[in-house]
Amino acid sequence: MVQSTLKLRQPIVVVLGHVDHGKTTLLDKIRGTAIVKKEPGEMTQEVGASFVPSSVIEKLAEPLKNVIPVKLEIPGLLFIDTPGHELFSNLRKRGGSVADIAILVVDITEGIQKQTIESIQILKEKKVPFIVAANKIDKIPGWKPYENEPFTYSLKKQAAATQKSIDNYVYKLVLQLAELGFNSERFDRVRDFTKYVTIVPVSGKTGEGIPELLALLAGLTQHYMKTRLRVAEGPAKGVVLEVKEEQGLGHTIDVIIYDGILKRNDTILLGGINGVITTKVRNIFVPAPLQDMRIAKSGFRSIDEVVAAAGVKISAPGLEEALAGSPLYSVDSFEKIEEFKKSIEEEMSQVRFSKNISGIVVKADSLGSLESLVAAFERLGIPVRVADIGPISKRDVMEAELSGKESEELNLIAAFRVKVLPGLDVSKVKIIYSDIIYQLIDEVQRYLTEVRERKKRRTLDSLILPGKIKLLPGYVFRRSDPVIVGVQVLGGIIRPKYPLMKEDGKRIGEVLGIQDNKKNVDKATAGMEVALSIRGNIMVGRHIQEGEVLYTDIPADDLETLFTNFREVVTDDMLQVVKEIIKIKRTENPLYGATIQL
Ligand code: GDP
Repeated sequence: MVQSTLKLRQPIVVVLGHVDHGKTTLLDKIRGTAIVKKEPGEMTQEVGASFVPSSVIEKLAEPLKNVIPVKLEIPGLLFIDTPGHELFSNLRKRGGSVADIAILVVDITEGIQKQTIESIQILKEKKVPFIVAANKIDKIPGWKPYENEPFTYSLKKQAAATQKSIDNYVYKLVLQLAELGFNSERFDRVRDFTKYVTIVPVSGKTGEGIPELLALLAGLTQHYMKTRLRVAEGPAKGVVLEVKEEQGLGHTIDVIIYDGILKRNDTILLGGINGVITTKVRNIFVPAPLQDMRIAKSGFRSIDEVVAAAGVKISAPGLEEALAGSPLYSVDSFEKIEEFKKSIEEEMSQVRFSKNISGIVVKADSLGSLESLVAAFERLGIPVRVADIGPISKRDVMEAELSGKESEELNLIAAFRVKVLPGLDVSKVKIIYSDIIYQLIDEVQRYLTEVRERKKRRTLDSLILPGKIKLLPGYVFRRSDPVIVGVQVLGGIIRPKYPLMKEDGKRIGEVLGIQDNKKNVDKATAGMEVALSIRGNIMVGRHIQEGEVLYTDIPADDLETLFTNFREVVTDDMLQVVKEIIKIKRTENPLYGATIQL
């Protein structure tokens, strides 16, 4: 049993949820609690993450012994500092995520919103289990806050009506989660944590419920993820969260190490813009304690080695081209270099691709955001032709133009935190920029819908629509060349350029212009009386008579397009006219209008 001697590492926790539901506030509160309650000398600061030691969790959970019994074997919890989809997307690991568990923050008074659902989708795809923090309980009418107390204690001290109110809110959340296919319950009513999503009522503002939240995160991960949390004592595995240029340190990478040990001078491999980077660790940094800040000007302190799980900054030669979201491996033997290189290359090629299909071009600054964007576009049925990292290049513009030739709206580049290469002419493509993933997705979707609608309208404008008019007796203003008569529109619509026919199907010419009260108009609809000029080799009194009824002469194709694509514009009066027109046209062409559904 070699395994059982291996230590458990701290589970990696991410915070997701809808904007303004309180992710940042909750994380700040948790961090604050850790700093206040930790033993002197206990480390809590990491790069890009914050550590909450088990001693703190045990202290907080002490009063809860009967509700949540916890005896912790894990050293604590490692919280990723940046909440939301953005940095989470870079915690990629083959077939899943480096994050072990997530807190899904939901404002209890607002319930599940758009980005809550997006978060759930991402967590499901990445197979990351989650606890729901039903946040802002202090906003519930009648709630009396008891700062930093367990929810269980605070609840007992609330008025009966407030307790009932909390229950109702939680129940609403349970129903909403059920609609999304999840069984859920308030934490103290959950029997089987593998079958139910746990809901913990909390307040990021007052700190109420945070003891339960931390105790459950620690308890559940330790209980259900033992195998996953056992660390190897060998080479490090990690993921690049961010690439940053730091004053005095050059290009550095912020890395989450989730397995093994990383040492100074270790050879590491990671993904770069132009392929795999192989380099040697120059320094491993963690934030300097406050009192050392003056000595360590950069704000960082160099350490010799780091054991998983941890967030550190690494400086090494050649990191300028490092890619955020890339896996990172340290290697202890030459043979492993080739093996890991292949593995990194393969993983990157799944995210960066170029397909010979008509679709949009997606450019992003990191592998994680690129992967999230492409997944979201595909979910929405938006085809992606090129997905790549880095600034917008000439090739991207050409690829977008190629797609645009097939469908004009696909002449589009979605740019996430990237710019256009200097001097490049981008006037022939549409580029949508954004620094927020879901905003970019929304804007791309809106743009595509807009152009498609416009295209549809353009087609509708070019169709000849059903119309029926009657020449009003006594209103012949000009008998020929062109004929000008007063007419009443009996049904449908007429517009300039529409061809007209008699009740026997004979073509008599086309509408030249329409005047309503002496003003030119571009259409006349059912019930209107207007003056009409008709161009054609005809004369009133000979070819057409006062009081006669005329129809628009609709080509079979136009009628079909109208009914397949624009059924919603067909009014009842128009439908009646269509029936009459079909009858007329069928005397010549028995198949006229045969394919349409009236
Ligand atoms: P984020 O966008 O999810 O990170 O949300 P923030 O943490 O920025 O919070 C959004 C707003 O909600 C801010 O005005 C916070 O002060 C407020 N807020 C966050 N948590 C709570 C809470 O528990 N109770 C109350 N009353 N307000 C909160």
